[in-house]
Amino acid sequence: MKLVIATRNAHKLEEIRDIFDFKSLELLSSFDFPDIPDVIEDGDTFVANATKKASEIAMATGCWAMADDSGLEVNALDGAPGIYSARYAGEECSYAANNERLLRELDGKVDRSARFLTVVALSDPNGNVKTVEGICLGKIILELRGSNGFGYDPLFVPEGYAETFAELSSDVKNGISHRARALKKAHSAWFDLMK
Ligand code: IMP
Repeated sequence: MKLVIATRNAHKLEEIRDIFDFKSLELLSSFDFPDIPDVIEDGDTFVANATKKASEIAMATGCWAMADDSGLEVNALDGAPGIYSARYAGEECSYAANNERLLRELDGKVDRSARFLTVVALSDPNGNVKTVEGICLGKIILELRGSNGFGYDPLFVPEGYAETFAELSSDVKNGISHRARALKKAHSAWFDLMK
């Protein structure tokens, strides 16, 4: 069976390949279908965006497809940046600008608790979709620390650790991250469907 991972992000693809490593499955990605247009993520929830990406890619390729949508939710900011995590500081902005805005918005706030969330969606070739969710709880620290990872990693300390995601090795992060948790859930929930 062929499964298309709906992403053009090589880093994400590698993480997914590590978890979905079974022989009966031929893993493809958006890189294998360069003519398919990017899916516009205009949903107002992580579930809506992941569902849209998976179903559009499945129907365009005629294969099963899997997509994910992730973000950071900060309690003192009523869940922001949430689905706007990638463009918190504006369209096409840098990770550094997003981190700067996050620190500014949290200035003076006592509650710095937050969570990363990932929704993974699986679509059959007809566009029928199932979803699972993975969460990683933690807090936002006062200044950037570490250089691994991407995005908000230098500001996020996961529960049970003293280091940020950017200070932890990728092996440790990939063992506890929201994305890893959602992917492992997806793997066990959908393994039989994809054999
Ligand atoms: P995506 O849906 O996986 O592309 O994630 C959207 C945005 O959420 C990214 O551009 C990052 O800003 C943020 N994000 C998602 N996952 C992570 C993570 O593991 N570490 C840091 N930032 C993340």
